[in-house]
Amino acid sequence: MNKAVFLDRDGTINVDYGYVHEKNRLEFIPGVIEGLKILQDLGYLLIIITNQSGIGRGMYSIEEYNVFNNYMLKELEKKGVHITDVFMCPHIDEDNCECRKPKLKMYYDAIEKYDIDLNKSFVIGDRIRDLSLCDNEPIKGILITEDNNEKFIYKKSLYDSALYIKNKEKSWFFWIFVHNISEREKENKNEYF
Ligand SMILES: [Mg+2]
Ligand SMILES: [Zn+2]
Repeated sequence: MNKAVFLDRDGTINVDYGYVHEKNRLEFIPGVIEGLKILQDLGYLLIIITNQSGIGRGMYSIEEYNVFNNYMLKELEKKGVHITDVFMCPHIDEDNCECRKPKLKMYYDAIEKYDIDLNKSFVIGDRIRDLSLCDNEPIKGILITEDNNEKFIYKKSLYDSALYIKNKEKSWFFWIFVHNISEREKENKNEYF
């Protein structure tokens, strides 16, 4: 099984100017590249889950979305960040589809496609609706916000979220390491006594 970080796009990776779909509107939030690299180096698949209701509202077409998406992925690749996949919902609320966040179809499709171990994975987004998976599954959510949030872990950027995950991994590793040592000591004692 794989571990993954599910990432919202607008407002989490790139600056959210509202219905971003033009190349000249692609602006990575400071620290995002470094943050994504940290997560990638820790072995997480990076999977973007994005609502693009601008398509359903007729503001831009799927083709225009694809051009922007491919451009963004290429820019990230140039900087050494590989995004495993992007799942996108083009609908508006009135369509009552199964994919538009907070609905979970995009997450479950990704979980199945990439055999994701939710216990070892994270969701990061700048809206509560990005973290709806946390209500249903054993996955940790990080809300990107400056405000205190009681329900989720909150960090002020993707970069800070990546540092948090890195530190968490260190403490898990340490815990497993110490645990194994003490188990081994017990076994050794059994041998001698
Ligand atoms: Mg967002
Ligand atoms: Zn949808």
